[in-house]
Amino acid sequence: MDIEKIMIGLEKKHPGETEYLQAVHEVLESIEDVVNENPHFEAAGIVERIIEPDRVFTFKIPWIDDNGKVHVNIGYRVQFNNAIGPYKGGLRFHPSVNLSILKFLGFEQIFKNSLTTLPMGGGKGGSDFDPKGKSDTEIMRFCQSFMLELWHAIGPDTDVPAGDIGVGGKEIGYLYGTYKKLAREHTGVLTGKGINWGGSLIRPEATGFGTVYFAKEMLKTKGESLEGKLVAISGFGNVAWGAAQKATELGAKVVTISGPDGYIYDPDGISGDKIDFMLELRASNEDIVKPYSYEFPEAKFYQGKRPWEVKCDVALPCATQNELNKEDAASLVKNGVSFVAEGANMPCTPEAVEIFQENKILFGPGKAVNAGGVATSGLEMSQNSMKLNWPREEVDRRLHQIMIDIHDTCVKHGTDEDGYINYVKGANVAGFLKVANAMLDEGII
Ligand code: NDP
Repeated sequence: MDIEKIMIGLEKKHPGETEYLQAVHEVLESIEDVVNENPHFEAAGIVERIIEPDRVFTFKIPWIDDNGKVHVNIGYRVQFNNAIGPYKGGLRFHPSVNLSILKFLGFEQIFKNSLTTLPMGGGKGGSDFDPKGKSDTEIMRFCQSFMLELWHAIGPDTDVPAGDIGVGGKEIGYLYGTYKKLAREHTGVLTGKGINWGGSLIRPEATGFGTVYFAKEMLKTKGESLEGKLVAISGFGNVAWGAAQKATELGAKVVTISGPDGYIYDPDGISGDKIDFMLELRASNEDIVKPYSYEFPEAKFYQGKRPWEVKCDVALPCATQNELNKEDAASLVKNGVSFVAEGANMPCTPEAVEIFQENKILFGPGKAVNAGGVATSGLEMSQNSMKLNWPREEVDRRLHQIMIDIHDTCVKHGTDEDGYINYVKGANVAGFLKVANAMLDEGII
């Protein structure tokens, strides 16, 4: 396989789509050996076919704000690959959303979903709409207008979107209500639903819980546990709060959380009532990070800084893509970090990952570490199909087991000759093989 040639061809077709090209390049590097060892993949054009989305929808979303002013946003759905199951992946509402970011996320989702052991293909969607500072009625009108276009493309056995940045339970509710009205059926077409109308217990915290379950397995490979470990977390969204809660439960001390404007360092640990305080602020759409330092004076707010300058054993970047660069990685290494697990999608730049791997720090990539979210969405789909609800313990037990299995698969496919576990390679190879073999079975279509 000639990676450079493939990348030049891809760049020509998709100029300037840096995040997408970066994600493809990373996967190609990891699967190079396995593709070269399997000439039938090359003969069937598997690589060329897997790196292009099956299709992309782009649509206009007009909506009216509370003052009667008309706004127009852009909506997207990228249906990337459905070789092993219906397209599945979140919707992101954020001003930074563009096709490159959604294609990168949709591409990553193929391998992540494959790793979960559940039958789900890869997709992603969203809009450049910013829900921040919008009233509930504005968000509702926006979601209704978004779904008026999207509903044609999705279905419980076709494409099952979920939440992502800017899309939580509230937005899923408005989207689902509109779909239901249009399709006139109550089906599992979205995941992340409310518990009274088809949702699964544990889904809101699943990505964060899964992140910590994965980190726990990473530590185990070194004969260590989370008990007494210092943990640095970035963000305080869906992923970060679940991670903070589970890490604390397993005996670690979480010392940071962050927002785009800076981070909080709390030497006493961020747990219990402190997490509840932030969840309340979050529910009412208020700023979280700065108010934390007013409420809990032992904590300090570092304006314009990232949490990667603190001393910690475990780093869990849980905010957004490319939020941890090579300087941050070097600072973490200098301060003694031993384990880095990506709760967010691609939060570490390729240069940062290189630094971790060169220093033999165990590094878990997002597509494996944060797969607990989509795995629990898969469990929600199963419950919807069976028209029943599993209790909390049952969902948590299954999630925990899935994360252990994903970890073991990464170890199986990623352990180097010197015994170092290259989780990036392990996740990419394992995720790729399952999808590639399905594509072979299904013919060139
Ligand atoms: P949220 O929107 O709930 O949370 C994102 C958090 O990160 C917020 O606290 C936000 O602060 C903060 N943030 C945003 N930009 C920055 C920045 N530049 N520096 C520091 N903090 C920042 O999103 P999620 O928690 O759902 O998602 C986070 C990441 O995890 C994304 O990469 C997403 O794709 C990935 N992911 C999410 C899954 C899920 O189930 N939710 C599943 C798998 C992956 P503020 O609110 O102030 O902007």
